[in-house]
Amino acid sequence: MTKIRLPGEPMNRKEFLAYLQDLKTREWKGIVLHHTLVPDYVAWEKHPDADYWWVAIDKFHREKRGWKGIGYHWLVFPNGLIMPGRQMTEMGAHVKGHNKEFVGVCLLGDFNADEMANDQYISAWFVLTALVVKLGLTPERIWFHRDFSPTTCPGRLERQHFRMLVARHLTEMRQWLGR
Ligand SMILES: [Zn+2]
Repeated sequence: MTKIRLPGEPMNRKEFLAYLQDLKTREWKGIVLHHTLVPDYVAWEKHPDADYWWVAIDKFHREKRGWKGIGYHWLVFPNGLIMPGRQMTEMGAHVKGHNKEFVGVCLLGDFNADEMANDQYISAWFVLTALVVKLGLTPERIWFHRDFSPTTCPGRLERQHFRMLVARHLTEMRQWLGR
């Protein structure tokens, strides 16, 4: 039986996959990748705790942005843990003018400066690949925030590199998700 997890609980990759398998979602045209910028890895080192930062980001989006809660659908932390934010049945708040079209995935860090930890790197392509399979998309439907807005988000990361990683893992991900 799939273990039921409440939104807000950190998951490892295996738990994320089980959670995603039966998760309700609306139709999405693609995925937009972000980084948090703030907090960066220095802030993370002080509180290396996914739940702590989930709460902080959720609070920031509610109180400072006036949104109904965390704007991203998924958060990926430097220790590789994954947390759901906005439900996949709901529009997020992460890419102005395009929120109806795109699921938002956010990596904690400032990748203008931070060197991504290996665990986060693996979870990043893992989450992107799983979402591509789950939503019936192709790797070319993965975009970066800066493709749509005047921002550098997500820093020095390369869109083509992440599309390549997703393409490379598509076949095994289809098997893992039973599709
Ligand atoms: Zn962004």
